[in-house]
Amino acid sequence: MSAAPARRAAALFTETFGSRPDGLWWAPGRVNLIGEHTDYNDGFVLPFALGHGVAAAARVGTEPVLRVRSGQQAEIVELPLADVAPGTVSGWSAYVAGVAWALLQDGHRLPGLDLVVDGDVPLGAGLSSSAALECAVALAWNDLAGLGLSRTALAGIARRAENEVVGAPTGVMDQMASLHGREGNLVFLDTRSLGVEHIPFDLASAGLALLVVDSRTPHALVSGEYAERRRSCRLAAERLGVPALRDAALDDLARLDDDLLLRRARHVVTEDARVAEVVAALRAGADPRAIGPLLTTSHASMRDDFEITVPPVDLAVTTALDAGAHGARMTGGGFGGCVIALVDRDDAEPIARRVEAAYAGAGHGPPAAFTTRAHEGAGRLDGA
Ligand code: ADP
Ligand code: MG
Repeated sequence: MSAAPARRAAALFTETFGSRPDGLWWAPGRVNLIGEHTDYNDGFVLPFALGHGVAAAARVGTEPVLRVRSGQQAEIVELPLADVAPGTVSGWSAYVAGVAWALLQDGHRLPGLDLVVDGDVPLGAGLSSSAALECAVALAWNDLAGLGLSRTALAGIARRAENEVVGAPTGVMDQMASLHGREGNLVFLDTRSLGVEHIPFDLASAGLALLVVDSRTPHALVSGEYAERRRSCRLAAERLGVPALRDAALDDLARLDDDLLLRRARHVVTEDARVAEVVAALRAGADPRAIGPLLTTSHASMRDDFEITVPPVDLAVTTALDAGAHGARMTGGGFGGCVIALVDRDDAEPIARRVEAAYAGAGHGPPAAFTTRAHEGAGRLDGA
């Protein structure tokens, strides 16, 4: 966890509200190692929590009103909690107000909140700054209102905030990764049961690192494209007579006579199988290099069957592989965003340089690269 956002949130809180906050909370962004677009097909995902995240400094308000400010935004937003509903709030504060709305919908009694958030996850890069924001706020309200909700319940609240108040039809992976992340571990999530298993992921002792390359091509969850993928998956499941694509086997797919549906379904079914293979290898204590080819095959499947990659993202993957990465793939919803590459630690820097050079050669703007590992998930920072 980086300390700067928490320090800045606390300082900005005192400056804005004239006293110290009642508490400080933190929730990280995430990288999905593998399992893309499987979450809304009741399938499997394998994310981990980043060291980048969002800190929330908060105090119970004197009235049932949300007053919130962000270190990354200009305006202070003030909203009576009773006025929050789908369609009434737009912009960044909808992620925050949405959490209150989802909690109130569930019948919880909520006090107003004076709140300052500050984060260091790049916005819109596919590293889930949105879930970090929602989860930090959900934890703050949970503690200050004494709600006693579980991490999985809070992930559901944060997801509904994003789905219904922000209006982004995303799955629950990001919030579960942020809230269930554990140092040195992957979060193996069954999105049907919401069961979580932590899978040890120790790259350092194998001399490895995970390189994240932000293509800086803003991932738009281009709503039409995203809706088509969801619709195609649902249609394919219907035609196969299964509740969700998670229940289909590769052999079943021959029964789909529509080429588009076949390719969409093939991505999901093979991706679930790749998640299972990665988990099996890591559980068995294999050298993590063994998962490299599965990452690369996942990318090819997203590019050719699911058609959610874009040229700068494909270029980062092929360049990293040419430069010696053990495996590489786009991570996140697609149409831009980030690429991850599994690399020998000493190769991280030269591979990042090679990708930069390739971007310059192709006329793309410069990417941003950093190495990361699996960090601890969300929690309270001030020990109260
Ligand atoms: P991603 O989750 O991949 O970063 P999203 O489009 O899902 O991209 O969410 C990004 C949005 O989340 C931002 O545009 C902003 O509205 C909100 N957000 C995230 N972090 C912050 C923050 N620290 N302060 C204010 N808003 C934030
Ligand atoms: Mg997001």
